[in-house]
Amino acid sequence: MKLIFERSVPGRRMSLFPECDVEECLPEVPMREAPPRLPEVSENELDRHYTALAREARGLNDGFYPLGSCTMKHNPLLNERMAALEGFTGVHPLQPAETVTGCTEVIDTLEKYLKTITGMDRVTFQPAAGSQGEFTGLLLIRAYHEARGEGERNEILIPDSAHGTNPASAAMAGYRVVELVSDENGMIDLEDLRQKAGPKTAGLMLTNPNTVGIFDTDIREITAIVHNAGGLCYYDGANLNAVIGLVRPGDIGFDVTHLNLHKTFSTPHGGGGPGAGPVACKSFLAEYLPGLRAVRGEAGSSDTWQYVWEKHSIGNMTGFYGNFLILVRALCYLESLGRDGVPELAHNAVLNANYMMAKLKDIYPMAYDRICMHEFVMNLDSFHEKAHVSALDVAKALLDFGIHPPTMYFPLIVPEALMVEPTETESRETLDGAIAAFRAIYEAMVKNPERVKATPATTPVRRLDEVTAARKPVLKYDFGGAE
Ligand SMILES: *Cc1c(COP(=O)(O)O)cnc(C)c1O
Repeated sequence: MKLIFERSVPGRRMSLFPECDVEECLPEVPMREAPPRLPEVSENELDRHYTALAREARGLNDGFYPLGSCTMKHNPLLNERMAALEGFTGVHPLQPAETVTGCTEVIDTLEKYLKTITGMDRVTFQPAAGSQGEFTGLLLIRAYHEARGEGERNEILIPDSAHGTNPASAAMAGYRVVELVSDENGMIDLEDLRQKAGPKTAGLMLTNPNTVGIFDTDIREITAIVHNAGGLCYYDGANLNAVIGLVRPGDIGFDVTHLNLHKTFSTPHGGGGPGAGPVACKSFLAEYLPGLRAVRGEAGSSDTWQYVWEKHSIGNMTGFYGNFLILVRALCYLESLGRDGVPELAHNAVLNANYMMAKLKDIYPMAYDRICMHEFVMNLDSFHEKAHVSALDVAKALLDFGIHPPTMYFPLIVPEALMVEPTETESRETLDGAIAAFRAIYEAMVKNPERVKATPATTPVRRLDEVTAARKPVLKYDFGGAE
């Protein structure tokens, strides 16, 4: 496919402006000597170019997208409509609080819902990603220990199955990461935890269900062990899809948590953002929360608002309220689901994952052959041994069936891992189609492994040199080498 620069023809224009009849008034300003070399194309050529580009990309709107640990779910158009309303897009964060009470109402209502969902007492909407939420939560934990004169606590306990952002956030917050071992069921080894929790422990970071799709049933004991050692418990809420409306982190011993609004709460999260990773915490941590908060004035004068800082705030994590329009989408999503719809979401997510797992496990070996939560992990080590077909090959073969690959080679504790998350919004027909695709790939592998290794055959490009693309991306058009 041609680049937009290759389609350029000198003099082609999109629209015709009348000759300028205003006297030029910037003579003293340094002006560029030559006009910028922008591509020159007509409007319909531009339109076709971007439509063709969009067709070459694979997104949620094109078909099943079972990326695990990412919760790629339906992004209702209604949410987009609401987030595009001028009352939300046309305001400025420095406007007096009483002129943006609609936006404040969105924040207040969403905070109320998220407190109910998490079992926590306060929420900050500043963090712009789950990972930034983790970092924020860890800074709250650090501020808490320092205020109690226990700043020497410098270790964060993190299971070996954790998402990579967990140890990264802990390191960024200045902590030493102590890895916890998973047992053969994919749960935390309690003996190992007891040995590692102690006077150096600042806290524990955990996602439950974890990244292998297993709900750790020892969770209350785990959080109690950490609390008894004087540490706090951080819940990585990225996997909330499995338990939302059913289990509340605040009820199972967690002190602070983040939620990924761009995962569990239906905001699109392609291309790395924008995201929203609000942090919810128990009241004893609230005095350290970041950012400003709009609060109503004296009782009886609900029109007088003011912005306040928390007493011992850790400072700003982003500007103002983070990515506000994502909050609008999340609120809209919760309002459309309602009180009964939220737990139903979790039930369907878990049902879909177990349905697919049950229909595949006779031929695809599962890393943990037990009831899973919202996602399951295959261990394709034996495929690799017998037929030299890797998890990557299976993922590539799925592309020929119009299916986006699942998460590959994660979590790290499972060799040749493929992690499948069929969200609650997928229909039974879609799941059956995906199951048929997996089974067809298996048969192809048994008959002719080379065919599977040569996939994809139907995509605009075949197998790419992903390392070079990531390390040495070519992002500039060089105009055929001419300066
Ligand atoms: C996605 C994810 C994160 C990080 O969230 P981002 O918004 O991508 O920064 C953390 N933990 C788990 C388990 C995740 O799936």
